[in-house]
Order: sequence, then C-alpha cells, then structure tokens
Amino acid sequence: MNTMSQDYCPNCKAQLKDSMFGTNKMLAQSVTDVINAANEKETLGYCNKCGDDLFVTSLSKLRGDIKRLKHDLATSYQIAIPAITIPNPAKWEYEVLGLVTAQSVTGTGLFSEVNMTISDALGKESESMNKKIAEAEIVCVNRLRDKTVEMGGNAIVALNIDYSEIGSLRGMLMVCCTGTAIKITNTTILNIGVQKALTDISNYRRDLNIILAVCKPYESLS
Ligand SMILES: [Zn+2]
Repeated sequence: MNTMSQDYCPNCKAQLKDSMFGTNKMLAQSVTDVINAANEKETLGYCNKCGDDLFVTSLSKLRGDIKRLKHDLATSYQIAIPAITIPNPAKWEYEVLGLVTAQSVTGTGLFSEVNMTISDALGKESESMNKKIAEAEIVCVNRLRDKTVEMGGNAIVALNIDYSEIGSLRGMLMVCCTGTAIKITNTTILNIGVQKALTDISNYRRDLNIILAVCKPYESLS
C-alpha cells in the first residue's frame, strides 16, 4: 500500500497526523475549492496547518469579489438593458421572449424616530422613504434585467412597477415589477457603450456564478 501521498500535505508538505499529541488533517474539498478560487491556484489540497487561516481570508476575499461583481453588474444592467414602460417602441425590431416578474421588500424606516417634532418627522420620513423606494425600485428592475438576460434578451418593454404595504408589519413596503423580456434584433441601433456593457454583463455573470458556486457550502458562515 502506498501511503506516501496520504501522509503529507500536498501544499506545505507538513506531516498529517491524528493522535492525542495533536492533529493535522487534510481539509475538505470544498475548502480547497474556496482557497484555490480566491488565490487562482490549482493545488490538490490543504491541511489544517497551511489552510485554516488561508480559508478564512480566502472566503472573505471571495465575498468581497461577490459584492463588487454584483455592483458592477447592476451598473452595466442599467447601461445596457433598457426597461421602458411603452409596449412597442419605434425603430426597435425584436422578438418577444416572455413575461418577467420580480419583487423586492424594503423597510421604509418609518415609525422609528419617536423624539422628533411632527414636521421634522414628516420631512425626514418622506426623504428617507423616497430614498428607500428608489433603491427598492432599482433592485427590482435589475432583477427583471437579470431574468431577461438569463432568457437571452437585451431589453424590457411594457414595464410596470407597483407598490404595496405588506402584511401586518407597518413600515414594510413591497415593490413588484412586471415586464416583457424582448430581444432587439436590429442591434446596430445600440451604441458602442451599450455593446461594451453587454459584453461586461456576460463576463460578470460568468465570474459571479463560479464564485457563488464555490462559496455556496459556506453561505451561512457570513
Ligand atoms: Zn498544508
């Protein structure tokens, strides 16, 4: 029996052991995947000694990457995937792909500032509420854009945005969006900035899917 490959860590060559005087074991494949993805390596495996701390920093790096990619993706979506309320825009030739829907729930931040005067409260509440509604709208429409791209589309027509207060929880607002995903076929009408953003979108989505898959086993450890 060849035990050589089992006895030493392939990364740091430290001896693997499991005794009352100390342990040093190989880390799980999913841990190896996280470390390799964060450091662009293809190492076969890591042990407690070389991998424990590296795993923590790697996971945190990948979480940062996820945040950055989501932000960049949201920006590119807003540049490249028009979402408009009119059902049949002039000059666009397109195929209809189907219905897209999305929801986003937000706390409005109302009823929290009990010590303000009424007029202060109304002013601040409406300001904070406007901001939160605007953010919830962007999140919601970007979800529609994401679904549209998933379906092979590049624009949304007949966009409708609806608001409702949900359940018995006052101060929770739901934004619902619906639209029709389409694929514009005369893409020569799209400007160069839009075409670049479309390329960015497919790169960001590919990178994001890879990182999300690697981090999935550790979702709860955030
Ligand atoms: Zn090691």
